[in-house]
Amino acid sequence: MNTLIISRIIIPFFSVIFMISCSKDTEELVPLPYTEGTVRIAKWKDDKKAALLIQFDDSTPGQATLGVPAMNKRGLIGTWYVNPGGEYYLQHKSVWTTEAPAGNQELANHTMTHTGASNYDEVVYEVGEASKAIWRIRKEEDFASLIAFNRGGGTSWNEDDLKKVLEEYKNIDRLSYTGVKIIAKTIPIGSNADAMYELIPIAIKDSIICSLHFHGISDDNDGDDSGNGAVWIVEFENFLDRVVAIKDEVWNTGYISMYKYTIERRNADVKLAQYSDEKYGVSLKATTDDKYYNEALTILVYLPSDWKSCRVKYPAEEVVYPLSNGLLMIDILPNSPEIIIDKNE
Ligand SMILES: [Zn+2]
Repeated sequence: MNTLIISRIIIPFFSVIFMISCSKDTEELVPLPYTEGTVRIAKWKDDKKAALLIQFDDSTPGQATLGVPAMNKRGLIGTWYVNPGGEYYLQHKSVWTTEAPAGNQELANHTMTHTGASNYDEVVYEVGEASKAIWRIRKEEDFASLIAFNRGGGTSWNEDDLKKVLEEYKNIDRLSYTGVKIIAKTIPIGSNADAMYELIPIAIKDSIICSLHFHGISDDNDGDDSGNGAVWIVEFENFLDRVVAIKDEVWNTGYISMYKYTIERRNADVKLAQYSDEKYGVSLKATTDDKYYNEALTILVYLPSDWKSCRVKYPAEEVVYPLSNGLLMIDILPNSPEIIIDKNE
């Protein structure tokens, strides 16, 4: 018996189920014993080839006056490790509390004052208070989301207390291993755009994470960041323009978004069910905690290649997606209800 014949038998059966279940909120579907098509989780968001993290330490004046506007203007996302109790931060507080979040920049924890801590109470102040400042900027409750953490060069800590407080305050050390290789570079003072860019082609080739760490940013008139390991804004903007040009290939995102994506993907299972020749379902289950791991994963569903478009029900409303060779690419939150896909034409 070929597929066509099976489908003629099955479709009326489904129509019956559908009619019965119309009165209920959920449609009860029974998958067919065979499956055409496959599904997988893309390694990177939107099935891009690599992830790019652009990270900044110390909330320096040049970052506030030059760096944040340059990133915002281009729609690029950086991770900014700030010291909410530090003099630099307070000089340009409104950039960190308003301008940076308005451009979807990620604020991260570089501790309150960049001084380290030797006992539990001091660690709670340095790590916990900075976390609370960041949650306030995000307009979230305390402990509502994960925060990227970098302890600060040259600081010393009581390691046991630091480990405990990082866990309590949902901070993720940026040196954490996520299961995917990271290539990283601290950008030296005075680097040109080529030097800033050089690791990105390697990350694309190997489909890994490229993490670039900046300190100061200066222009001709603004000597504020001399002494902060600065690069010139002209070279920095040059570099950013090159990143914009490859945005289709590289997923530029914040540290925590990358972290959640890779951890969820490692702990997730995606399944495709076929209910008829014209109806499929995708379910994405992950063992991660939905409260903290809420980054949507990109799912690639390979539907019959002659489908020209499909209707996708997710989460509540139905959206029509055009298909090319039957490929549907859709972002789904782990542990959402099953996504139902119907042939449209
Ligand atoms: Zn630092």
